[in-house]
Amino acid sequence: MVDRVAVVGGGAIGLQAAIALADRDIDVILFEAGELGSGASGRAAGICYDAYADRRDADIAAESVEYFRTDDLLTDCPYLWFAHDDETATAIESQAARMADHGRDVEIINNHVVADRFPALVTEDIETAAVAHNAGYVDPEAYVTHLGERARAAGVSIQTNTPATVTVDGGVRVDGSVREADAILVAAGAGTSAALSELDSGLALGLYRTQALEASPVEGALPIYYDASTERYARPTPGGILAGDGSEMYHGEPTEYDRGADERFVSERLRGLDHRLRTDLTADRSWAGLCTATPDRDPLAGELEPGVFVVTGLCGHGLMRSPALGRAIADQILGGESIPGFDPNRFDGDEPVSLPFGVTD
Ligand SMILES: Cc1cc2nc3c(=O)[nH]c(=O)nc-3n(C[C@H](O)[C@H](O)[C@H](O)COP(=O)(O)OP(=O)(O)OC[C@H]3O[C@@H](n4cnc5c(N)ncnc54)[C@H](O)[C@@H]3O)c2cc1C
Repeated sequence: MVDRVAVVGGGAIGLQAAIALADRDIDVILFEAGELGSGASGRAAGICYDAYADRRDADIAAESVEYFRTDDLLTDCPYLWFAHDDETATAIESQAARMADHGRDVEIINNHVVADRFPALVTEDIETAAVAHNAGYVDPEAYVTHLGERARAAGVSIQTNTPATVTVDGGVRVDGSVREADAILVAAGAGTSAALSELDSGLALGLYRTQALEASPVEGALPIYYDASTERYARPTPGGILAGDGSEMYHGEPTEYDRGADERFVSERLRGLDHRLRTDLTADRSWAGLCTATPDRDPLAGELEPGVFVVTGLCGHGLMRSPALGRAIADQILGGESIPGFDPNRFDGDEPVSLPFGVTD
């Protein structure tokens, strides 16, 4: 019988799970090492879509997009992805066909149609493009604020500036003392392995640092877009554009990464945007965040040891999947089904992890 749950980590996943549990009358205490959203969640680009080639992933994403729309957090905007090399173009066609097979609202379009619909984009080099219509973006800060308010209203006890770790016998170590709980969820993002270090659980988890910037001005409607040949994404902002990524694997302490973007990333990304938008942009702000990745690009989400649950390894797609994953892990903690394929014990722990980009079919 689960009556009391401790959640470690106050990002989108931990907060969503805490809300889902508290809504079912569970006594939930959430420990956050810094402020709510101070990990990756508050530093994300906020892009959301249900355009996944795998049906399970598409269902998780569709449930989440619906949540964002219902809670009035989503700015609807089509998601365009395109290639300017043969191999990636073929992969996009195969991906889009699989998405359509399981009912996603996606279409393949040629570069003339892209130019007609999105005149702000330079399209001559585009070989193949696909567009997904069930898509949009959220403001990550507004989303975290919304979740904090929802969690408090549901009765979650939130302790910020309170790092916590899991003890070998399934307690939560906080400020030198150990608290008991019927179940523990660790959703500590880049800090997950450290929060579980006493357990010697050997999570197959890599960290990577990824960067973003906001620039302006941009005139004319833009889609969210992903250039799959160069693995770069962008989305509109009011009067401008938000773009990533400048990603690299990170092997240092999760708390000590450089939170500012590199000058080289900013200048190269601006040059790429100037080319893609035929314009002359100025960077308004830029930053970096730490993300988690797994060997097979699927999350680690489920029961790690009896009573100890984890959700991490979201490979840069955690914000857009957080409503459904938070709900699903809460279900599992309360005795429901596990999420197929996301078992956190499916690896030995020493498998290599690389940057989770590129188009796979
Ligand atoms: C630049 C950038 C752009 C991105 N763009 C997108 C996007 O467009 N769409 C998308 O879906 N995803 C995007 N992501 C990825 C997304 O941000 C993450 O996948 C998601 O936020 C992960 O949520 P989380 O709750 O698992 O982790 P986090 O948000 O990192 O939350 C973990 C929390 O745990 C806390 N913590 C750590 N250790 C402890 C401890 N020992 N005790 C207590 N608390 C602890 C941290 O302080 C943190 O607040 C982006 C990320 C970055 C950096």
